[in-house]
Amino acid sequence: MPATSLDQVVSLCKRRGFVFPGSEIYGGLANTWDYGPLGVEVKNRVKREWWKTFVHRRNDMVGFDAAILMNPKTWEASGHVGGFADPLVDCRKCRQRFRGDKLLEDKLGVAAAAVLNLDQVQPMLIAEKVKCPTCGSLDWTEAKRFNLMFKTHQGVIEDEGSQVYLRPETAQGIFVNFKNVLQTSRMRLPFGIAQIGKAFRNEITPGNFTFRTREFEQMEIEYFVDPTVHSALRPEQAFDQWKETIWDWYTELGISKDRLRVREHEQDELSHYSSRTLDIEYQFPWGWGELLGLANRGDFDLTQHEKFSGEDLKYTDPEDATIKFLPHVIEPSFGCDRTVLTLLLEAYTEEEVHGDKRTVMKFDKRIAPVDLAILPLSKKENLLGKAQELYKKIVQETDLVVDFDVTGSIGKRYRRQDEIGTPLCITVDFGTIGEDPAQGEKDTVTIRDRDTLKQERIAIGSIREKIAEAWRK
Ligand code: ATP
Repeated sequence: MPATSLDQVVSLCKRRGFVFPGSEIYGGLANTWDYGPLGVEVKNRVKREWWKTFVHRRNDMVGFDAAILMNPKTWEASGHVGGFADPLVDCRKCRQRFRGDKLLEDKLGVAAAAVLNLDQVQPMLIAEKVKCPTCGSLDWTEAKRFNLMFKTHQGVIEDEGSQVYLRPETAQGIFVNFKNVLQTSRMRLPFGIAQIGKAFRNEITPGNFTFRTREFEQMEIEYFVDPTVHSALRPEQAFDQWKETIWDWYTELGISKDRLRVREHEQDELSHYSSRTLDIEYQFPWGWGELLGLANRGDFDLTQHEKFSGEDLKYTDPEDATIKFLPHVIEPSFGCDRTVLTLLLEAYTEEEVHGDKRTVMKFDKRIAPVDLAILPLSKKENLLGKAQELYKKIVQETDLVVDFDVTGSIGKRYRRQDEIGTPLCITVDFGTIGEDPAQGEKDTVTIRDRDTLKQERIAIGSIREKIAEAWRK
């Protein structure tokens, strides 16, 4: 069973050093979170798995890393300056602000709320008796458009001309560089460009821990496809392929199919440029929430950037130079922080072992922040020395992240390793150093499996094989 409440995971994250409230010593900064020593390992591993799957293991994909600050024309072309806005309503009684569409979504469902115009939001809230979640009153202001882009200034002069935006998505950095990548990488359609990076949105109602924050990380792919009749892979087919690929990626990382679903956007919910969009949603403790969006964006972005930049961004058919066209784009856009949160929730397990309760993070081995812990049974010098020798050998000979823990009783140390999700623990005892045959033979150690709790006595010489076997499973 995964976590049944968000609090269980928030508290474990704080206690063990996965995620801390941002700027805590100054009383925090609302809805910011900092990844601690274990959290950053989990997050890096999610990114590593993603990059490995979608960039390194495919010859139709290349990676990219664009600057966060871009020429502001980018955001005019993409439609973000004019249209990236949410309907904001204020409660007149307690002065709290909310996204009117989200309040209506909770009551009427996503599709019904998506079709409303700005001037319909307030009357609809009142007609549907949607009360203020904070104070319970029904006294809403008219909805206003609120642009979600963070503005800042570049350089020393803070005037209109120096205004830039923190990017609200990573995607546009890819579109703007489409020609550069095409010319230098010699990729042929269909091919994709992948990027991991921070995005910023001045969300009206952030919350639910790291689910909705104003600074977050995305893992995005823009997959360019030939839309013409000669195309071996039509955009519609590429969309279906990506739908399967992303589903498999999530489920293979250990997210239960029972708590995942695909939600297709209905016709009137689609952006004007998209012919098809779907979300992969996860059943969070507070309800279903989006993990990833997959959209057929057609040639909207490249058309816009051609128009605003004056550059020719067309693709030339390598077989026939007279055929030129703008590719269509299929975009899988993964939320990195939401993926990490989902994996934390999925891993969280409370179970009874011999009458005791234990909390264990059952991460997939590729995601666990620590691979292996070495636990010397005592701090006695020769025993500690033997354990340290073993530690050094393993870190030098493998890529594993190894924890060396000498503090507290062995039971406490096992509990700590369970709570951070370490798949294997190795205990070095007096048997290992030949001082107590009752504990085991000389040069043997105990290896303990996090999930089965099985303990096995093995020779030091066979540790590497044992680890390799565990990682093969
Ligand atoms: P939502 O409907 O939840 O606001 P969205 O449809 O605006 O999300 P997209 O623009 O499709 O999101 O962004 C792609 C992915 O980026 C989302 O599926 C999500 O995982 C992640 N994401 C978007 N906004 C946030 C946020 N404020 N905090 C954390 N992750 C986010």
